[in-house]
Amino acid sequence: MKLPGLFIDGVWQHGSHPLMVINPSNEQLLAEVHGGDGAAVDRATAAAWAAFGAWSGSSGAERAKVLRTIAEGVEQRRERLVFLQASNNGKPQAEAQMDVDDVIATFRYYAELADGLDAGQDSAVALPSDDFVARLRREPCGVVGLIVPWNFPMVTTAWKLAPALAAGCCVVLKPSEVTPLAELELAGIIAEAGLPEGVFNLVCGTGIAVGVPLAADPRIAKISFTGSNAVGVQVMQRAAETIKGVSLELGGKSSLLVLAEADLELAVELACLGGFFNAGQMCSATSRVLVAEALYPDFIARLKTRTEMIRVGEPFTGEHEMGPLVNALQYQRVQGHIAAGLESGARLLCGGARPLDLPCGYFISPTVFTDVPLDSALWRQEIFGPVLCVRPVANEAEAVALANDSEFGLVASVISNDLVAAERVANALQAGLVWINAPQVIFPQTAWGGYKQSSIGRELGPWGLSAFQEIKHVVRAV
Ligand code: NAD
Repeated sequence: MKLPGLFIDGVWQHGSHPLMVINPSNEQLLAEVHGGDGAAVDRATAAAWAAFGAWSGSSGAERAKVLRTIAEGVEQRRERLVFLQASNNGKPQAEAQMDVDDVIATFRYYAELADGLDAGQDSAVALPSDDFVARLRREPCGVVGLIVPWNFPMVTTAWKLAPALAAGCCVVLKPSEVTPLAELELAGIIAEAGLPEGVFNLVCGTGIAVGVPLAADPRIAKISFTGSNAVGVQVMQRAAETIKGVSLELGGKSSLLVLAEADLELAVELACLGGFFNAGQMCSATSRVLVAEALYPDFIARLKTRTEMIRVGEPFTGEHEMGPLVNALQYQRVQGHIAAGLESGARLLCGGARPLDLPCGYFISPTVFTDVPLDSALWRQEIFGPVLCVRPVANEAEAVALANDSEFGLVASVISNDLVAAERVANALQAGLVWINAPQVIFPQTAWGGYKQSSIGRELGPWGLSAFQEIKHVVRAV
């Protein structure tokens, strides 16, 4: 299947750079996508600016209507999107369904916020002088570049695209070259949603061919990037050359804290979800598990049993709880982390290798390490695979100190039936989102992003919208 990888100014086009899209469950070719390069970015940016005048001048209500139509389109093509997401990424069908639901909820949420923009525009500003009057306007920041990774492709796109369109920005989207298929389908839905030509443009391609020229283009007002810290640094450096705004959603090394009063069964279930959902390929993976000393032996025994029960395999059987890693590179990276962990002296509790019954595909069994040295890469670096490190802690203070001892600060989970203690610990954690006794549920209303090197800015909620707005005050002498 050969697919056009460019949607520019309302027209599908074949770019000059073929991308081979692989099914990670069987290593077979899924599609050949004809992506672009700097010339395509140039055309897409020009088309976006040509559309900007009219789109930025449209009312919030008009933009809300388009966003709702996109949400409806996603709902109607749900099955197809689930199929593409699961085939291309390898995630179990049930997880892909959650992704599609998240996309729908995000477009609907930002439709609501877009609706509210008209009433809030030109609001009066109270001044300490009767000689002047002032009003506040929120205006779209211009043409924006959206660069997304492969782990939650459509979701990450929706978190950027919906608020950007709601704000009145025009967009050049660069999906991951590893997982462009769901975004191509989404682009088809957007193309039918009544958006004026040029408002939404998509350029598939590699980071070098498309991401670099997009981040460097002086006409792009802002880059919203989700991906690795190494690339985040490069994006920021290029953006700095033209003083471009950046929003960055980067890596994590988050903790799940099992406090002394925890329900052990719940703790084990949430530890598995936090470590193995999406095969652990989550910036928010709670890959450090810190367990109150008194519970530790029992917790470890139960975690081993539960982890070994996880059924690993391809997405469409309905039986499998965990799929493969996304590609050969990620598979090798995670194997490398496991090998380095063993060399560092960490003890392998379970997993650590390819499941014996899966000779093909990028599968790694869910893996648990104990006795992990605190200065090892396994403890300190993001693994981005199904690998948990578990450690006993003497008390709450030690748990918080270990959780906060990281260059990242994206999320955390706290498990305890003592809700006063759980809330106290949540307040002490350096993380943008903390769950208590809950799986990693994400609502469009709550912000996404973290402390320290995990993020610059926040997505979702009103913060996700204001990331694409400029503030203007008009002050007039009376
Ligand atoms: P990546 O950084 O390799 O790539 C991300 C995107 O950037 C891709 O579209 C890629 O093509 C593009 N890119 C690559 N080089 C570029 C360059 N020089 N200039 C501009 N763009 C370039 O990340 P990945 O491997 O796709 O995804 C995994 C990473 O993403 C992990 O580190 C993970 O923590 C992070 N992530 C963070 C969040 C979050 O919300 N904080 C969410 C998902 C993933």
